Amino acid sequence: MVTTIGDTLEQSADKYPDRAAVVYPRRGQRWTFAEFDAEVNRLADALADLGVERGDRVSTVLYNGSELVLTVYACAKLGAVFNPLNYRLPAGEVEFILGDAESSVVVFEAATREAVAGARPDLETVEEYLYVDGPAAPTGEGSETTDLPEFADDFYDVLATGSTDPPSATVSEDDVYAFIYTSGTTGRPKGVVHEHRDMVEHSLICLAESGIDKNAVGLSVLPLYHCAELHANLFPRVQVGATSIIHHEFDPVATLRAIEEYGVTQLFCAPTAWNALLQVVPDLDVDVSSLEIGFYGAAPMPRRVLDGCMEHFTEDYLQAYGMTEIGPCGTFQHPDEQLSKQGSAGLPALGHDMRIVRPNRAPDEVVERGEVGEILFSGPCTMREYWNRPDATAESLREAEGKTWYYTGDLGYRDEDGYLFVVDRKDDMILSGGENIYPTEVEDVLFSHDDVVEAAVVGEPDEEWGERVVAYVVTASGGEPAEALDAHVRASDGVADFKRPRTYYFVDELPKNPSGKVQKFRLRDDEAAASGETV
Ligand code: ATP
Ligand code: MG
Repeated sequence: MVTTIGDTLEQSADKYPDRAAVVYPRRGQRWTFAEFDAEVNRLADALADLGVERGDRVSTVLYNGSELVLTVYACAKLGAVFNPLNYRLPAGEVEFILGDAESSVVVFEAATREAVAGARPDLETVEEYLYVDGPAAPTGEGSETTDLPEFADDFYDVLATGSTDPPSATVSEDDVYAFIYTSGTTGRPKGVVHEHRDMVEHSLICLAESGIDKNAVGLSVLPLYHCAELHANLFPRVQVGATSIIHHEFDPVATLRAIEEYGVTQLFCAPTAWNALLQVVPDLDVDVSSLEIGFYGAAPMPRRVLDGCMEHFTEDYLQAYGMTEIGPCGTFQHPDEQLSKQGSAGLPALGHDMRIVRPNRAPDEVVERGEVGEILFSGPCTMREYWNRPDATAESLREAEGKTWYYTGDLGYRDEDGYLFVVDRKDDMILSGGENIYPTEVEDVLFSHDDVVEAAVVGEPDEEWGERVVAYVVTASGGEPAEALDAHVRASDGVADFKRPRTYYFVDELPKNPSGKVQKFRLRDDEAAASGETV
């Protein structure tokens, strides 16, 4: 039975030994499934020689590359726990995650060297640092080499010591496959514990929902440390025998050129990245007609971007909504629903139950169709727990009716046809004078003002109203008068008077996590930002 992530690769190597599996142009690597499987065995053996055993944590602080891909499958075959970190994290955050995960081995590269070196003095569990040599700057060209840090061994030297025979470790479907830390949008990142079975199941669901098969050629440009690219794109491709082209990081021009060069059929980008592709495509002479389907997630696709993508790239798009804790995919919106259900996140993924309940209440307190509530999932890919966080685990995983329900902390509603519309995060909702206010609705109106570059609407404590609505705004001009923005909000149809921001704070930038999501908890906590303009 194919029940572990290692099994999925072995099956493809057995079925399609000569088909192209992984292409990593930055190093000129191109592996068939048989070669890729052999390289994975080699790394697994080398890691075992370093003392890595079942259950040990192997962390990566890597941009995309064949090294990350080898590490995830080598860990899977050893029964070691894969732990990918965001490559943009500063030293303090790297230290927090590696310390929390009690990592044994850390694989890193030139671009993340400073953060890892900064974290190192306080890390007691790490026994081995492996350094991936390469251009110092992430966008660097060529094969310029850098000095090996004195505390690390060279990744490729260590790899060369391994044997390509399959490792002898026994790995079961209940073994932990990975600790994947959440993005840290609503607080400190939490270590999501996933088992092998969850991820094999998730991969099969993605294959069934997306329809991609062994003839697909996918391009990974979004970070592989995040579960969206890794679990919903790379894993399904490896499992079905399709080809993966790996780019070190997202570069719009390079992405479009690669589509032509490799005949890419499938590409996953966040809506902002699709928009970036639209900005450069008019000036490029590239043939992207091989692209059959575009995937997106993390946020709804604005209609303008969707229309542009349909005109320039392909007519078919697939959206997924979800979060690290459930794999991530909880719902899918299929190509034929993009226009008819614009703004929706689609219907529950195969094998998933989804409910909208009164926030924080029991799973049977389901709200009426059309009413906003908290989104819950019960599915086959839900995490086992948050690592070291029994409190947070108990809060978000609850048993009822013989099922485990995951409380997403997101608010949404289902329309008359059952389609999910994600409204906002529960913690971000503002309660003012007994009325619920969903900030994204107000933010969308602020964004539609020409001078507004970024906007975040939050609630401030207020004696009379409970909370009052305030807006943090970044403007292109550096200071539109608050009255002008207020007039713009008043002129829009959608925003009722009680939702109108009463104070505007003009700031140079909004606090964001390394994935670019605005951290509203920092705005709410920020006492210093007291000098706003009240309207
Ligand atoms: P943390 O849990 O640490 O605060 P995070 O929730 O941002 O961070 P992720 O698991 O990377 O970490 O992101 C999941 C969240 O992203 C979801 O809870 C949801 O708010 C948002 N999201 C994901 N996909 C979509 C989508 N298609 N449409 C709207 N929002 C989405
Ligand atoms: Mg979250």
